[in-house]
Amino acid sequence: MKVVDKLALVLEEIDKACKKSGRSREDIKIIAVTKYVSIERAKEALEAGITHFGENYDKGLLEKWEALGDKPVWHFIGTLQSRKVKKIIDKVDYVHSLDRLSLAKEIDKRAGKPVNCFVQVKTSAEDSKHGIQPDEVIPFIKELARFPNVHVVGLMTMAPFTDDESVLRNSFRTVKNLQRQIQDLALDYAPCTELSMGMSNDFSIAVEEGATFVRIGSALVGE
Ligand SMILES: *Cc1c(COP(=O)(O)O)cnc(C)c1O
Repeated sequence: MKVVDKLALVLEEIDKACKKSGRSREDIKIIAVTKYVSIERAKEALEAGITHFGENYDKGLLEKWEALGDKPVWHFIGTLQSRKVKKIIDKVDYVHSLDRLSLAKEIDKRAGKPVNCFVQVKTSAEDSKHGIQPDEVIPFIKELARFPNVHVVGLMTMAPFTDDESVLRNSFRTVKNLQRQIQDLALDYAPCTELSMGMSNDFSIAVEEGATFVRIGSALVGE
């Protein structure tokens, strides 16, 4: 299926979720996750009008960046090793995987200007899903005051891999609640207005629960 046709289906789902939850469509941005697809397919997504692109490995990011340039808004969504920061940091507009102070320190040191970061929250017991435990998120955000180039635009999570809607909703609600608590702190460096949550299998529910960025791979650009 062409990307334009897949995009139409995704938009339809998002529209439905917005209606159901009383949200407005403009508040949700779609990130095309191109990690599994060819450069050709990524170009097709760009031509379909998608402006946000996400990659989860430094190599993939650099490859797609070479091909598509700085036309798209680039999101680094994968686990980020500190030693890889300097390779990618001037190419990305958002980092979705801030999950430790050593990484914040490295981003702060390597970036010439403030970087939009999402703090990744662990809402799943799966080891493959990284992030900070929910009860440690607020203390972590307070510590980030030391790093002027780390700008906390929001929180990110990967929900457990399941079809159980209540489990998914719980995971997204945990993050939404944390967002409210952080906003109450009114920290200049952590406005935390955004929520990066929802993938191919759960983006409708994520939108209903307050996502502002959904990260969609297979359902949008899958071949
Ligand atoms: C791969 C990936 C996605 C997209 O996954 P799909 O299930 O293909 O939509 C979203 N977020 C992260 C962090 C990913 O690694």
